[in-house]
Amino acid sequence: MSAVPPRLAVVAALHEELSDWLAQLPDRRCERVAGRDVWVATFRGQSIVVTLSGIGKVAAATTATLLIQRFGVQRIVFTGVAGGLGPGVAVGDVVVARRLLQHDMNAWPLVPRHEVPGYGRAHFETDTALSDTLAWACEQALLDMGLPTQRLHQGLIISGDQFVSDTAAAQALQRDLPDALAVEMEGAAFAQVCHDHGVPLAVVRTISDRADDDAHTDFSQFLRDFASPYSQAMLNRWFT
Ligand code: SAH
Repeated sequence: MSAVPPRLAVVAALHEELSDWLAQLPDRRCERVAGRDVWVATFRGQSIVVTLSGIGKVAAATTATLLIQRFGVQRIVFTGVAGGLGPGVAVGDVVVARRLLQHDMNAWPLVPRHEVPGYGRAHFETDTALSDTLAWACEQALLDMGLPTQRLHQGLIISGDQFVSDTAAAQALQRDLPDALAVEMEGAAFAQVCHDHGVPLAVVRTISDRADDDAHTDFSQFLRDFASPYSQAMLNRWFT
């Protein structure tokens, strides 16, 4: 008899990214907890839990805790959009996080800038095996969409409670954190909660904008036209 795979949560930041995919899950059952809709379902033989993280680090931390403590989730995969920061990270590219950091954490001079007090670290790593599988699923999804696999990047994603939509602010982040590939608002909070509970996490972000003066327009257009096809392609490959 084959082992039952550990229960997996699929989380997105925004409704637009999940609704089409969620509609494909035939036996989904919705529970409303802490102001959130959480769907429990089976997809291609796996028990899964699907929800939206809410926007920002606090909403994300509440969601991650809820998934682990109340729904018994043993692995989490997060899919969302983000602003591209690294020089080669363009709109429509895909970034799989290998580590995450809160760019607005600053308890200096008590601890070095970006370090989370009490943890002795600024970076939180994602799970290697889960991220390898996610990167593979993203490569396959890019091919399915007729896009080159060079559009996949892997490395540091940074999170903070700001929608970065200002060229000077994006440049300042790049100066402070030159390894950062993308900026968003939830991933590092998930990483910290998953670290606390020893739960493996993988995070993927599709680049919706460049976090610059045009970010607001690019973000809205990407969300309308591309967010759903990207996440559907990735999730369908993930579950093959
Ligand atoms: N339209 C939403 C707000 C979206 S906030 C509303 O009205 O409720 C932006 C979302 O996309 C966040 O979940 C964040 O993680 C991600 N994101 C995309 N581009 C970003 C950027 N340039 N800076 C920060 N977060 C970004």
